[in-house]
Amino acid sequence: MRHETIALHAGFEADSATRAMAVPIYQTVAYEFESADHAASLFNLETEGYRYSRISNPTNVVLERRVAALEGGVEAMSVASGQAALHCAISNLVSPGCNIVSVPQLYGTTHSLFAHYFPNNGVQVQFAEGDSPDDIAKLVNADTRAVYCESVGNPAGNVADIAALADVAHRAGVPLVVDNTVATPILTRPIEHGADIVVHSLTKFMGGHGTTLGGIVVDGGTFPWDRYPDRFPMFSTPDPSYHGLIYTERFGRAAYMARCRSVFLRTVGAALAPVSAFLLLQGIETVAIRVERHVENAAKVAQFLRDDPRVEWINYAGFSTNRYHQLVQKYLGGHACSLMTFGAVGGYQGGVRFYDALKLVKRVVNLGDAKSLACHPASTTHRQMSEADQVKAGVTPSTIRLSIGIEHIDDILDDLDQALAAATGLSGQQETHLETPDWAGRVPA
Ligand code: PLP
Repeated sequence: MRHETIALHAGFEADSATRAMAVPIYQTVAYEFESADHAASLFNLETEGYRYSRISNPTNVVLERRVAALEGGVEAMSVASGQAALHCAISNLVSPGCNIVSVPQLYGTTHSLFAHYFPNNGVQVQFAEGDSPDDIAKLVNADTRAVYCESVGNPAGNVADIAALADVAHRAGVPLVVDNTVATPILTRPIEHGADIVVHSLTKFMGGHGTTLGGIVVDGGTFPWDRYPDRFPMFSTPDPSYHGLIYTERFGRAAYMARCRSVFLRTVGAALAPVSAFLLLQGIETVAIRVERHVENAAKVAQFLRDDPRVEWINYAGFSTNRYHQLVQKYLGGHACSLMTFGAVGGYQGGVRFYDALKLVKRVVNLGDAKSLACHPASTTHRQMSEADQVKAGVTPSTIRLSIGIEHIDDILDDLDQALAAATGLSGQQETHLETPDWAGRVPA
């Protein structure tokens, strides 16, 4: 099936108990056992079924199957937020004394997780100078357990060369973990390009309506854990916390995910509420057509800003002059994401005046809502980073990040125009030159 269809149908046919067409919200903590033997066989993982909703829940399972299908993975595990997903995905691979190697262009809180939380727990994160495969390869050593990138960096808008990074990781015998939040599987499916594990904040484009926090880890089922027993003993040697279970023997290709669920849902417990899983599923049903409109609108906004003399600079990977343009063609089907950054004339003050004058576009620290959103990363999402790290992450004091929504394009442009006028005291009077093909690949005249 194509992604529009998968987004609507994967993981669910009518409810087996009632034939309900919509996914039921199983708002239950526990599931009744038929007998002590039945309970024991569930706990031994000999019988399939549900025990306790911290570990799994039928509503969440539909979400997990749907996102796994969209990403082309074998299994997925939903959790309470994107940050929880990222924490689980990495923690499942490391132990004190190990390191991971990451690109520097990261969402601000991911940077905090990597720069502070993991090192405080004995796991070093080596940040590369840039996102090129050479930058990453330089830092990989015998203690490395994963290579990490965002398929499209937030807010830098850089596009990861997933196949080349996967190659670096695999030559070192470690998996590539990719945060696919900004791109979504509608624009790119990292597992098809060699990534082993995909992470999402479902809070963003996937849920798409700014109502619900959620995250997910998807296992591509591609990494040969049992080939590296010294590096990843947790998958191929008995787990004392689960009566000696050996994940690779029991779960084969899904060993990573099985341990992730057993350790990080069962023991740590960042479970997603079933009602949130339901709301996220509602959003995912329309993700394909929303992303289509998001990227079409974004291309028009980017061209409007580029041609406006009141705008000092703009960073949008869809322009043919952008250094990531080739990677946009290779990985995103030619469609740059709806995230872009720019600076209004007047530096920091100009940016702040623009930001404060917005009316339709909302001032929030979110992205991927159906509504257009603006953020000033230096004072919010990336505030905790040093200025040098901010620059590596694609943030300057004047940077405004836009997440372009699916409103009528003329209403978005009208709001940006009036905010630029308020910021600079100048009217636009410009002719916008369209260069980016629309979703159907038509290049504007
Ligand atoms: N990954 C990326 C790329 C993000 O932009 C965000 C949040 O903005 C997250 C992860 C964290 O997601 P959540 O807010 O759901 O924890």
